[in-house]
Amino acid sequence: MRHTRFLALLAAVLLAACAQATPEQQIVNDAAAALGGGERIFAVRTLVLEGEGTQYNLGQDVTPEASGQTFTVTDARQAIDVAGGRMRVELTRRPNFTFFQGPQPQRQVNGVDGTVGYNVAPNGAATRVPDAVANDRRAGIFHHPITAVRAARDAMARLANPRTEGSESLVDVTTANGITFTLAIDATTKLPTRLMSRTDNTNLGDVVMETRFADYQDAGGLQSPTRLTQRVDDFTTAEYRVTKQTIDGDTGDLAAPADAVKASPPPPPTVAVEELARGIWYLAGGSHHSVLVEFADHMTLIESPQNDARSLAVIARAREVNPNKPVTELVNSHHHFDHSGGIRAAIAEGLTIITHQGNVALFENMAKRPHTIVPDALAKNPKPAMIKGIGQDTTLSDSSMTMQLLPYSGPHSETMLVAYFPRERLLVEADVYNPGGQVFMFAGPFLEELKKRNFRIDRIVPLHAKPAPWAQFVKEASLPVPTATN
Ligand SMILES: [Zn+2]
Repeated sequence: MRHTRFLALLAAVLLAACAQATPEQQIVNDAAAALGGGERIFAVRTLVLEGEGTQYNLGQDVTPEASGQTFTVTDARQAIDVAGGRMRVELTRRPNFTFFQGPQPQRQVNGVDGTVGYNVAPNGAATRVPDAVANDRRAGIFHHPITAVRAARDAMARLANPRTEGSESLVDVTTANGITFTLAIDATTKLPTRLMSRTDNTNLGDVVMETRFADYQDAGGLQSPTRLTQRVDDFTTAEYRVTKQTIDGDTGDLAAPADAVKASPPPPPTVAVEELARGIWYLAGGSHHSVLVEFADHMTLIESPQNDARSLAVIARAREVNPNKPVTELVNSHHHFDHSGGIRAAIAEGLTIITHQGNVALFENMAKRPHTIVPDALAKNPKPAMIKGIGQDTTLSDSSMTMQLLPYSGPHSETMLVAYFPRERLLVEADVYNPGGQVFMFAGPFLEELKKRNFRIDRIVPLHAKPAPWAQFVKEASLPVPTATN
């Protein structure tokens, strides 16, 4: 009798021990309870958030340190098929600064369906985005407390590294489909405070994408945040206010458009060489071009844009133009991430970087940052960065070539370099004038700046469009620019 009682007691103790949550499970369970209960969360099929907010301009503001350029976001709608792993985001954004396409609002539609990420243009044309972008969007599905906690409570999810930091408890989560994130909850209220996932940024390397949650309100029996703030490392990229949230409502069609599904991967970069003048070549192809300049004993490249793939192809092609002279220098037009995405590739290839002095600190930092998630050329072949800042008009000249580099501060960027070739009467610039465009937001101020100098220019060589005669530049720079209608 006594023996039987002892066994029963032992069984009860063991059962209790088995049912006891691990510390990592406890954090997730606490979050689920605070949000409205694990079963209710697990029953959620769709989530539709509508609202408005502000986006910032990471990597594209007027200086590397600036954060004043914003877009006002309206009519934003994020629809998530929670179990199906599909999401579509639609919004309208209006720039509050002088923007390429002018001040008119732009409608943006993007989504992810399984592993297929896509954008839909205003004319309805769908394009597939690179897999890296699609992966960020897959992780983005979990940047909401309900989707994150639901995924963390899945029997196939792996939880690890429970910890307390300040007033938060944190746990690392690997979802059933292999996406990793860190969930942080308030140690007192147990409501999720933020969600972090790591990703690769071409320019910045390993970065943390963070969404902070605040102002929880009831949504169909669950607590759901109505203020979401997104950051990439320390840079705030967006702030949204949710004005309507619907659980298990109609998401509309979340399937990836057929054109995006069947799109083939982008072809490797091509570099087309065109001689502009004796000793100056246009290295064109793709959306961003470069210029190669021949000095007496070396070659200088202008622009290593976009990423490793583009910039390594451009540098390799530049070396073929005159194999007897080494390519030793890279002139960077400005810090914008699409124009500096190949800075690290140029450093890995041993080139000295020449840029506006306002970009030196950024590029020195870019050269040092870890790229462990997607190791790039510099991560695989570390080299010390040699970066020269230009703060005033500077002439690089020898027996073969004269090139003047001019710092230019305009509404597009305040830390630009423009290259002028007095003998060939060429001027090389990025972004401030794209011949044949629809609107010319930056060309007028640029023309005024050039008028102050004693230049004789026959042709403008843009790094985004085809070279154009000076007369065409003057004509297009003089066109009225559109102004905001509201
Ligand atoms: Zn730019």
